[in-house]
Amino acid sequence: MTTVLSGKQAAATLKEQNAQAAAQLKTRGITPCLEMIRVGDNPDDLYYQQSLERLCQKCGIESIVTPIGADSTQDELEKAVRTASNNPAVHGILLFCPLPKSFDEKAARAQIAPNKDLDCLTELGSARAFAGIEQASPCTPAAVMELLRYYNIPLQGKKAVVLGRSLVVGKPLAMLLLGANATVTICHSKTEKLAEVCREADVLLVAIGKAKFVNADFVRADQVVIDVGINDDPDNPGKICGDVDFAAVDEKCAAISPVPGGVGSLTSAILCRNLLRAADNA
Ligand code: NAP
Repeated sequence: MTTVLSGKQAAATLKEQNAQAAAQLKTRGITPCLEMIRVGDNPDDLYYQQSLERLCQKCGIESIVTPIGADSTQDELEKAVRTASNNPAVHGILLFCPLPKSFDEKAARAQIAPNKDLDCLTELGSARAFAGIEQASPCTPAAVMELLRYYNIPLQGKKAVVLGRSLVVGKPLAMLLLGANATVTICHSKTEKLAEVCREADVLLVAIGKAKFVNADFVRADQVVIDVGINDDPDNPGKICGDVDFAAVDEKCAAISPVPGGVGSLTSAILCRNLLRAADNA
């Protein structure tokens, strides 16, 4: 029977650890504080912001939201990021990306103080992520590793195929898998015989942003499939789905992470963990 890799279950343990870490910091007179900077009113950003606010409240982290109008100038945005970077009461910054096209995202990201960069948005953060150190990697790849660890999925000596090569997910995830001694293949939109390459994996990790793209042809019976994708479900308006066609693959592989309820459920808890570490080191 296929095992469903529940991110919710794995996150429960992490959330408890976060609450304990926050309580510990408070005994030292430190109130851990996250500042979220949101440009415009993108529904995905608002959804993520509200779920983070709830999570922070539950585990004893203060959260501040700095909304920036979509019609603001680049200077106004950069000033807001610098203010958060220079505020000693703020321990970590999350700038919701991608920014509206009228902004220079790279320049805005560069204003985040490296010690407050929770999701490797700065160039230094990106460089750290490529060292393959999980504590220094963006939240989503770290969430994938946490999920694999929670379910005791072996990586050493195993073939891992990563579908997608973005700077925030695919590439840093490949580095972490390499760090765990997997033999890693990275695929992208120009990869030939994609389904064949994917079938060779012991662990297939998919992050391409294409709803239900990976079908039964891509998987093998003894394979573990991790779906990082978050897409609008074309078959169920108002719902989300992954990059893997869960219904088609579910019965064919050994284990699979669902969407929703998989990697995404863990990502926010990892962000809080990164914040608590930053507060501890401040
Ligand atoms: P991205 O920046 O758009 O990158 C997509 C990658 O997939 C690119 O490397 C692209 O290849 C590759 N790709 C696209 N179409 C492909 C195809 N037909 N065959 C093979 N490769 C293909 O996306 P991203 O930011 O990495 O996000 C990927 C997915 O993860 C999205 O659904 C996103 O919503 C989700 N996500 C989830 C979380 C979470 O917490 N669970 C966090 C972040 C992102 P090229 O490089 O050749 O163009």
